[in-house]
Amino acid sequence: MQPAIDNILDIQRIRQDFPILDREINGRPLVYFDNAATNQKPLPVINALTRYYEGYNANIHRGIHHLAEQATAAFEASRRAVQAFLNAKHWQEIIFTYGTTDGINLVAQSYGRNFLKAGDEIIVSTMEHHSNIVPWQMLCEEKGCILKVIPINDEGELLLDEYEKLLSEKTKFVSCVHVSNSLGTINPVKFIIDKAHEVGAVVLIDGAQASSHLELDVQALDADFYVLSAHKLYGPTGMGVLYGKKDILDAMPPYRGGGEMIKEVTFAKTTYSDLPYKFEAGTPNIADVVAVKTALEYMAGLGKENIAAHENDLLQYATEQLTELDGLRIIGQAKHKIGVISFVLDGIHHQDIGVILDQQGIAVRTGHHCTMPLMQRFGIAGTTRASFAVYNTRDEIDRLLQGLRRVQKMML
Ligand SMILES: *Cc1c(COP(=O)(O)O)cnc(C)c1O
Repeated sequence: MQPAIDNILDIQRIRQDFPILDREINGRPLVYFDNAATNQKPLPVINALTRYYEGYNANIHRGIHHLAEQATAAFEASRRAVQAFLNAKHWQEIIFTYGTTDGINLVAQSYGRNFLKAGDEIIVSTMEHHSNIVPWQMLCEEKGCILKVIPINDEGELLLDEYEKLLSEKTKFVSCVHVSNSLGTINPVKFIIDKAHEVGAVVLIDGAQASSHLELDVQALDADFYVLSAHKLYGPTGMGVLYGKKDILDAMPPYRGGGEMIKEVTFAKTTYSDLPYKFEAGTPNIADVVAVKTALEYMAGLGKENIAAHENDLLQYATEQLTELDGLRIIGQAKHKIGVISFVLDGIHHQDIGVILDQQGIAVRTGHHCTMPLMQRFGIAGTTRASFAVYNTRDEIDRLLQGLRRVQKMML
């Protein structure tokens, strides 16, 4: 193993931005390796939330008083920041949602219910999160569409030739994850999109995991829809983004009815707002939307490439270290991966691993990670998953290794 790469990021300095990392859990300094579930928030993001509530909390768009104008300006500035982050062509293509799940449901319920019909085929992959399976199953049940699934190999990579065989003129929609939350696999989404477009299908990419690790460019990808959650990119919970191409969004009817999404309401007929507001019914999550801009600035300040390089170093190091343990098998060994390591330990249930690691202050995730069909593909009930963020260190991986040795001592 080579020594730690000479990354330009000062990780010890960065750790000071995350107050939660000072905590002790069960008498030991916290090691937080559950970043794929949600990552921790830096002080600038926490402060942006406080500043909003202390300084200019008001409902947006409809007010003419000073605070309402200030809140509206901050809210819309976040939309421009997200537009730049995704390299979307138009600001109207950025819809604020409550998260990835909400964004996919919006597309399934609005696009799916109105433009898909019985016999149309929808393709997802074996490694989808439940939030990119169940909304499509619900739609299939209602409309009589047919769900097809791209298989994977034992390394946890999509079988692209099988994908091409699934595509036909019956394929109307492809919904695929950019980066697997359970395996870390980075999927070749540009290829997936291009092939789907060749048969005239529309494509949604689930970017929940990709957003804090990879450079994103929805125009270069030519994605029709791209969804993400703020809480997985150092931002607040309960806030997400749906990107959609303007002509497609324009053609879609609203998903929820209520305030903000209307032009005029009478009991005879209601007309809807223009993009993006026709999809933003009700009072949105203003504070969290405002703070997302700060989260994006924070990441940009560190440099996404630098973050990725650091996490990649952790991934290499952890892979080498963990492989030394007897009876440990890594689930997901794709050539292109982000810093996620899922594994099983011979003879020990993942839940026991999680509990004993927690006793040592180490937070990992155990179970099926909302990807039960993927676990079935590997013939396992679940895994233990360590997933890395910019503030993690090699020392923490050493602690994980010690922790797992202890697990084996206690359980075997
Ligand atoms: C977390 C996650 C989701 C769901 O995101 P929510 O924020 O819970 O809506 C969907 N897909 C992937 C790949 C995820 O990692």
